[in-house]
Amino acid sequence: MNCPKCQSDMEKVMFEHVEVDRCSNCKGIWFDMLEHEELKKLKGSEAIDTGDPEVGKEYNQTDRIDCPKCHSRMIRMVDRDQPHIWYESCGVCYGVFFDAGEFTDFKQHTLSDFFKSLKAKERK
Ligand SMILES: [Zn+2]
Ligand SMILES: [Zn+2]
Repeated sequence: MNCPKCQSDMEKVMFEHVEVDRCSNCKGIWFDMLEHEELKKLKGSEAIDTGDPEVGKEYNQTDRIDCPKCHSRMIRMVDRDQPHIWYESCGVCYGVFFDAGEFTDFKQHTLSDFFKSLKAKERK
């Protein structure tokens, strides 16, 4: 899989039982459906976010990207609780892409009701 932002190779990174893909260049991280929520709950998981947040900010300017998995155009999302966090989400396979530093930022907030409702939907 190639990075949707800079087209470099992505490498697999394991944290406990969750596997994500991290770009070898810009260090943006790709999460399959709900993996970012899964990881958010795991203590110490911000260790996977090894990139420089300054680099992440630069890549954050790039918002017209295609999903690296299913090649659909991704949608820019804003975290409801932390509106300064912009990330890209795929409306087809539900994967999300966080630029370097964004996951750490995202994690420093408690689980929002929005994602609780997503999980509830998933169980049906
Ligand atoms: Zn990249
Ligand atoms: Zn997709």
